[in-house]
Order: sequence, then structure tokens, then C-alpha cells
Amino acid sequence: MNETHPISIAIDGPSGAGKSTLARQLASALHFLYVDTGAIYRTIAYYAYANHLDPSDEAAVLAALPDIRIELCHDTEGLQRMILNGEDVTDAIRLPQISQYASVVSAYPGVRAFLLEMQRDFARKGSVIMDGRDIGTTVFPDAELKIFVTASPEIRARRRYDELQAKGEEGSYEEILENVKERDRIDTSRTVSPLRKADDAIELDNSHMTISEQKEWLATQFRKAAGAE
Ligand code: C5P
Repeated sequence: MNETHPISIAIDGPSGAGKSTLARQLASALHFLYVDTGAIYRTIAYYAYANHLDPSDEAAVLAALPDIRIELCHDTEGLQRMILNGEDVTDAIRLPQISQYASVVSAYPGVRAFLLEMQRDFARKGSVIMDGRDIGTTVFPDAELKIFVTASPEIRARRRYDELQAKGEEGSYEEILENVKERDRIDTSRTVSPLRKADDAIELDNSHMTISEQKEWLATQFRKAAGAE
């Protein structure tokens, strides 16, 4: 890894594996830009939802793309905010219906092509850590470090359930588990850029790891890739 040039780090994995937490922490420690690409797909999904488009109508979703202007900025705490046609939709894109819409619209090759250059542009500005499903396989196939984060569907669903409980929100564990499995099925079975580990990615199964253990593991992988270990 040559640290005088911008560096790209790809962090991929299924929904709810904890990619964002890890990616955000490493980006903040290294002073790299952090980009959550799931939020960008969610913003397209939100546009479809807000404009009463049927997400399974591929032609309608593709026809809407020229009307979608997405901007991404970071607030004072470094959290990524999504701006859709001038409106801040950061909170709205987290609604459960939007997760479902996002899995459907992100399978369309036209949607993926629409977002590809936008994602690559971030790396032209400087070093970046990006998380998603196809960062190591498609967006940055030459990334200096590629990590594939996984955990069992049951553990991912349990974490999501605990998060909702902590916020005082409703949700049944069984329903969340079904939802996690369905999104995995859609993400891994689509024809264009399906979710899969890049051949040269390092896998992290964090099913039984604490956040600080994962953080330490990732920092070690970065030092190794940078040639410091
Ligand atoms: O990561 P998150 O769950 O927010 O992503 C929402 C959806 O966007 C995922 O279920 C996936 O279908 C899609 N996605 C994708 N490629 C990415 C990031 C997200 O297809 N790079």
C-alpha cells in the first residue's frame, strides 16, 4: 500500500453484519472519507416510495432516474446525511419499507450503473472507506484492502431486534429474521453485482465478537496491508 496516493478500503457483507459501525470507526481513526453506499441505494428506493412507484416495475424506476439528484454530506458529528433533490431524507430512508424497496431496486442493472460512477468519484477526491455489497468486486476491484463481514442470520436478526427494543420500537424477532433472510436471498441471487466475497477479501465472521475486538482486528488488517506488520 502506498500511502502517498489515495487509498480505497472496501467493506462488504450482508445486511446487519455491522459493516457501518466498523467502517465508520476506521475512517474516523484514519481521517478517510466514509461512504455508506446502502444509504445511496436507499435514497433511490425512497424516491420510488415517496412517488408511489411500484418498486417491482423496473421500467418505471429506470424512467425516474433522471429526476433523482442525490447529494451526500457529513454533519458535525461525521454522520453521513443523504439529500434527495434538496431534501434531507437521512431518517426517512431507514424505515423498514424502504429496506425492502432498496433490495428490489438495487437489483436493476440500470440503477447500479447510475450509481457506479458516483461511488467511484468519491475515491478520486481522496482516501475512502466504503461499505456495501459489491465494493470489493465491482466498485473498487483494485482496493488496497477488502474485508467481507458476516454473521449468522439469527445473530444479525437478534442484533436488529435488540436495537429496536432499546429504542422502544415494536418488532417481532421472527419477522425480522424472515426479513434478513429475504434480503440476503435477493442480494445474493441478483444477476448484476450479487453480494459475494471478492476472492482477495479477508473474511470476518463477527458472530461472537465484541465491537472492540472487531475494531482491533480491522486495525491489524489495515496495518498489515500498509506493510507495517
Ligand atoms: O446496507 P443497507 O442495508 O442499508 O443497504 C440497503 C440495500 O441496498 C441492501 O439490501 C442491498 O440490496 C442494496 N445495496 C446494494 N449494493 C450496495 C449497497 C446496498 O445492492 N453496494
